[in-house]
Amino acid sequence: MISLTKKRIALISVHGDPAVEIGKEEAGGQNVYVRQVGESLAKQGWQVDMFTRSSDREQASIVQHSPNCRTIRLVAGPQEFIPRDELYGYLPIFVREFQKFQLESGFQYPLVHTNYWLSSWVGMELKKSQPLRQVHTYHSLAAVKYKSVATIPMIAKTRLQVEKTLLETADRVVATSPQEKEHMRSLVSSKGNIDIVPCGTDTQQFGSIARSAARRQLGIAPETKVVLYVGRFDPRKGIETLVRAVSLSALRRKGDLKLIIGGGWREGECDGKERDRIGSIVEELGLSDITSFPGGLSREILPAYYAAADVCVVPSHYEPFGLVAIEAMACGTPVVASDVGGLKYTVLPRETGLLAPVKNEAAFASAIDRLLVDSVWRQQLGQAGRVRVQTNFSWDGVASQLGQLYTQLLEKSAMKLDPVSA
Ligand code: UDP
Repeated sequence: MISLTKKRIALISVHGDPAVEIGKEEAGGQNVYVRQVGESLAKQGWQVDMFTRSSDREQASIVQHSPNCRTIRLVAGPQEFIPRDELYGYLPIFVREFQKFQLESGFQYPLVHTNYWLSSWVGMELKKSQPLRQVHTYHSLAAVKYKSVATIPMIAKTRLQVEKTLLETADRVVATSPQEKEHMRSLVSSKGNIDIVPCGTDTQQFGSIARSAARRQLGIAPETKVVLYVGRFDPRKGIETLVRAVSLSALRRKGDLKLIIGGGWREGECDGKERDRIGSIVEELGLSDITSFPGGLSREILPAYYAAADVCVVPSHYEPFGLVAIEAMACGTPVVASDVGGLKYTVLPRETGLLAPVKNEAAFASAIDRLLVDSVWRQQLGQAGRVRVQTNFSWDGVASQLGQLYTQLLEKSAMKLDPVSA
């Protein structure tokens, strides 16, 4: 009998290419999630193909990451960067290209794990033409996101509808935090199957360098107080709150404070505009001397930034999970975060950091100051954060939970599956 447990599966991430360098332009949590989940599943015996849309002619169409894990780039629309809110019209081509790839390869995937609503639509379309199990991770929920943004994009209505249909019809939806599950239930639909499987981090890489060595590497003096932000330039990330909080900090007046805002951007695109806006606020508040924008930080250098920082701030308006918080904690750095979404799940107040009300710059300033003035407490919180991440949020742990879920679904549908898919 064919073993149905560990087989070929597809992860679909139309707009978040798992093979690109993270930290550049729009690449963020979804790219990291798909790549890490894919590689960890492959280590555990699955054969993983990760599908994304080609956004550059120069890119290889197939990138082999390890013997059982590769990224496959399908040509669906112009091979150039297209903002995610403008990708919906290209999805039917993506579906056709996926089907063509299966046909040419002589197999069909019995299970797809889709990421973000665009890919969920692809999964639902594929299900119409082949026996298929669909697992989905949202990464962001329109019903929550649109509550916190000033301008609602044209695609909003379609996205809300697709996200609802998906929840009601997918074989399993993965919520990355209990808060995300609650949002799905209260704002999207009471129907559908949800499991909670968190995101993870690489606790060997994040935590590999000590604070003093990291500061030497980055040229930061031992006595300087460093406040760090890492992430995309997107208004929902709340970088403005952080900048305003730093301008209110009591330590700013003492002159030994440094604010580092790490993350890449693309001139003229949404993230470039947000970078310019934040830059203007920094200037307006007279913070230019103490603020630096090092640009996109590679995975290699990132552990040094986290380790060198006294506090990492995650001021998001909305965050289904928030990888940055656990990466900082894995490096032994306490976190000050908005008390929203997954951040309420990962950051334990007064144990691994502090939570502050969203957009409340005065509360952020006082939380940051509380940590900056007490190095003993900071160290205690940092150590507890590292233990929390090691215990709860490793990619291998995440992948084995996902693997169990896939196995369960595949075994359920074993009788219906075409043997060519084995
Ligand atoms: N990131 C990075 N370099 C940067 C900025 C961000 O590697 O310069 C990574 C960061 O380490 C994290 C991811 O991008 O792994 C951001 O994920 P998160 O869940 O915090 O936010 P999202 O991008 O999903 O909104």
